[in-house]
Amino acid sequence: MTTIKAIGGEFGLIERLSKISSEQSPDLVQGIGDDAAVLAIPSDPDSFLLVTTDLLVESRHFKRDWSSARDIGVKAVECNASDIAAMGGTPTWMFVSLVLSDQIDLDWVENLYHGLSISCKRHGIVLAGGDTTRGPAVVVNITLMGRVGRSNLCLRSAAEPGDVIAVTGSLGASAAALALLEKNLPVSDYLLAKHKTPRCRLDVAERIGAVANAMIDISDGLGSDMTHICRQSAVGAEIQAAAVPLHPDVVEAGRKLAQSPLDFALCGGEDLELLFTISPPNLEKLTSSGFKFYIIGSITGNANTFVIVEEDGGRSPLPSGFDHFA
Ligand code: ADP
Ligand code: MG
Repeated sequence: MTTIKAIGGEFGLIERLSKISSEQSPDLVQGIGDDAAVLAIPSDPDSFLLVTTDLLVESRHFKRDWSSARDIGVKAVECNASDIAAMGGTPTWMFVSLVLSDQIDLDWVENLYHGLSISCKRHGIVLAGGDTTRGPAVVVNITLMGRVGRSNLCLRSAAEPGDVIAVTGSLGASAAALALLEKNLPVSDYLLAKHKTPRCRLDVAERIGAVANAMIDISDGLGSDMTHICRQSAVGAEIQAAAVPLHPDVVEAGRKLAQSPLDFALCGGEDLELLFTISPPNLEKLTSSGFKFYIIGSITGNANTFVIVEEDGGRSPLPSGFDHFA
């Protein structure tokens, strides 16, 4: 038997599977390998259609003891909308497929939908269909469609040597909350909210999309998501450890758990902030657009060299982040 771990985990598996089913189409601008698929719209030469899908599995992505059904609904939409944001786009239509166990109360399912609806209203998303079946654990699968103006599209493969690397907000809060919850330690309201009901950054995605080169949303940790941009753009990255924004509660969580708070940012979970690379001239345009972002490093021409540089000049490889099969 060959395990998925043995072939490189989740990402090794996806690569192998994509070779089995490798049909191409000229209308598929970007297939497997980005935050969303990018499809040509024959009737609209100025825009692309975006499609993304995500699974939330009980016990793996949420625990019914820790999160209310409403919170799970909000998070499910935000995670998908974050992938549309990462392309520089705007979400439109949503499809929801549910696996429900025998023990599920109707109230739980209805509250899940109230949660979905809160986030849909926030972003102008309309529920258009789905599928429902019975199974051993609760699974929520969302497929979200969206649109992006052609000139705003940001692919993972578009980073250039000399680009500045930036993020839209502080990192590691969701992972810090989870680490504290797992140890039954107290969790601050800030960390809990970031873990249970993170908010995607559609508020700034279009503005970044207009001027950035590459973009990805941080859903598996900065280390892993930065590596995706580098691999697909055939470039390297140098991240300055001291420049990675960390909330004081994340620093405090590191102290309580006797671990580096930076690890929550590098290897942690669903921050849903945007990580982008941008040329220095375009950076000036973004600076004047009036929202906060943080410069954390630069793109280099050394493909396959992804390093984090400590304040004392020490350099170490970027950790690979979260993998479901690691
Ligand atoms: P994200 O973290 O942004 O949601 P993923 O890491 O889940 O992205 O997926 C990366 C890419 O792999 C995407 O293009 C996604 O559509 C594709 N992908 C993931 N799982 C599969 C699968 N089982 N079959 C085909 N494509 C997949
Ligand atoms: Mg993503």
